[in-house]
Formats: sequence, structure tokens, C-alpha cells
Amino acid sequence: IPLTFLSVCLYPFIPVTLSMSSYSICSLHPPPSADPSWGSCSLGVFICLACSGIHRNIPDVSKVKSLSLSHWEDHEVQFMAQNGNDLMKSKYEAAVPVYYYKPTHKDCQVLREQWIRAKYERKEFSEPGKNFTYEEGTRDGMLMKRGRDNGQFLSRRFVLSEREGTLKYFTKYDAKEPKAVIKVDTMNATFQPEKIGNPNGLQITYLKDYSTRNMFVYHDSGKEIVDWLNSIRAVQLHYLKVAFPGATDAELLPRLTRNFLKEGYMEKTGPRQTEGFKKRWFTLDHRRLMYFKDPLDAFAKGEVFLGNKDHGYNAYPGLPASAHCNGAWQHGITIETPDRCFLFTCETESDQQDWLKHFTDVMSATMSPQEYTSENEELFNGH
Ligand SMILES: [Zn+2]
Repeated sequence: IPLTFLSVCLYPFIPVTLSMSSYSICSLHPPPSADPSWGSCSLGVFICLACSGIHRNIPDVSKVKSLSLSHWEDHEVQFMAQNGNDLMKSKYEAAVPVYYYKPTHKDCQVLREQWIRAKYERKEFSEPGKNFTYEEGTRDGMLMKRGRDNGQFLSRRFVLSEREGTLKYFTKYDAKEPKAVIKVDTMNATFQPEKIGNPNGLQITYLKDYSTRNMFVYHDSGKEIVDWLNSIRAVQLHYLKVAFPGATDAELLPRLTRNFLKEGYMEKTGPRQTEGFKKRWFTLDHRRLMYFKDPLDAFAKGEVFLGNKDHGYNAYPGLPASAHCNGAWQHGITIETPDRCFLFTCETESDQQDWLKHFTDVMSATMSPQEYTSENEELFNGH
């Protein structure tokens, strides 16, 4: 920073600062998603409006000011100029574990808030060698779990074990036998506050008997539920490193928990394509397109594996001329797999285009050796 900046008043300083790349991004949000119209004068970082709200919740650590409306003292301007987002990132993110989920601007409030608190308030990543609760190899605690039949949330004990590579849950705290044993390599965890109706709502998806199951949990503490997510990711990475010893972290990280590419309603018809179209809730989890009667169902009614387009997979708008489109919706999508065709309809054209874009993207992506394995396993098991 040229020293001249420090001797002039703030208002000429701000626009020049904003035009400089290292200052013109929010410390969490990449451009162009957010304008850094705010600053934390105690941390020395520029932040966007959305993040400024979270920083305001930790006033002991972060003192938020508007770049254009607040009064800035000379020493505060100097502090911002001496620190800034890049330098503070190297300080507060010096030792982020490789599996730790770093949220983006698309992520929900609890993930963004806990990231900011972990980084600046708890200073979890400022120096290496800290003992993280999500790195202990075992996590044992209570989560509120949605009952499969009545939809009521009840407190249940969950035990995550790195040694066993499992997540178990127990209906009674001192029960000897778990109600479910989930293998971490078949498991995904993703925050779904809106669908679950709780700001800390986490959806856990796993395979049992070759079909997908859902569990919906939350914890009243945002830190606790985000720590659970990162514990799961730590155990998953450990499992994958043992299973694929030659693989790099960069190859394994996309195999940890991931957000769904898209969810929403479509209509579908059965394999004979003569039955009526029925409205179903669809979840696209990378190459798995699952459908449910209700968004909060425990079991998928079925699923379609989406392989690479060079292996006989294709998706295009419209339905075959032979199809009897007797559903309510008009915007058709046909998915071809080596085994059969799947026919869907969407309510609107924009929804149809959006689904198609995701299907095409997935089918254009190169399949990893691990994905070939999962495709073959599924074919072998008749799915
Ligand atoms: Zn931001």
C-alpha cells in the first residue's frame, strides 16, 4: 500500500482500495457475488453485507463499519491498509484441516456463521497442532432426529467411529444394539434448513441394502452440528485414504460430503411408459438421481445412475412420440441409460432447462475409477 493512502482522508482511500484485487473481495465471498461495502476495523478485513451481519453477532471480536457511511479513525484506516484480506487469511486460515468444509456464499447461515466464528472468534486455524473435537476419531453425542413415521423430532444418541468406519444411532442412550449402522463410505451429510424446517437441519443420506435412505437431524447449537459435519468428513477422508492409498487429497476431497446439485418436483412415468405420470420429489446427488414421494421420506422410491455420455447415457428435452403424456405438466425430459429410457415432465420450461443443464453437466464429466466401481456394483446388484 503506498504510504500516501494513509495520509489522505478516508474517502479517496476507499475507492482506490476497492479497485485493488486483494482488497476488493469479501473474506468469504468471491466476486462478483458480493461487494465488500463493509469492513471489520478490529480484524482488518473487508466484508460484504451478508457477512457483516454475522460479524455483528461477535462484537467482541469484530467491529463492523460501513465503508461509505461510518466514521473511520486514522488508526483504523491505517490498520485496514496494513492488514487486509490476503494477509488476514494467511493468519486466520494458517492451519485449516484438509477435510474441513469451507463454505461459499451459496451455503446456509449456520455454515457461514460457524466458519466465521471458528476462524476469528475461536481462532481454530491460526496455528497448527490444535486438538479439534472433529479430529478425535470418535464422536459420541445426542442429536434431534426426525421420526420416520410421525415426523416428530426426538433426542437420539449418535456414535461416529473412525476405527469402525461407521455412524451408529441408538434409540435409548444405554441401548446395547444400535438402531442403524451406517458405513461412512456410503454416507452423505448436507445442510437442508428449509426442507427440514430448522436452521441447523442436517440431512444424512446413506445406502442400505442397495437403496438410499434419509435421516433428518439437528442440534440446537450451530457449533455442535457443524462440528458433526466436519467429524464425518474427517472420518470419511481417513476411510478413503485407507481404501485408495495411492489417491491424492485433491482426488479424495470431492468424495466427502457434498451438496445436492438440484432438488425439486418433476413428474415421472413407470418403466412401461403407459402408466400415468406421477409427481415426485427428485434429488440429484452428483451421479445419483433419486426420487421420493415426499421430500422428507426416509426411503427413495427409486434411483437412476447417470454415467458418462460416452457410455450410453444421454438427456434431451421432450418425450418420445410414442409416450402418452397424461401428466399435468408439459415440459418433458428423456434420459437414456444403457438399460432403459426414463421420462420426466417439469412444470415450467425454466425448470426443464435447469434440470437438463445439470444432467448434461454430470454426463459430460469424466468418471473417476471409483465411480466406475460404483456403477459396476450397482449394475451387478441389479440396480
Ligand atoms: Zn461475504
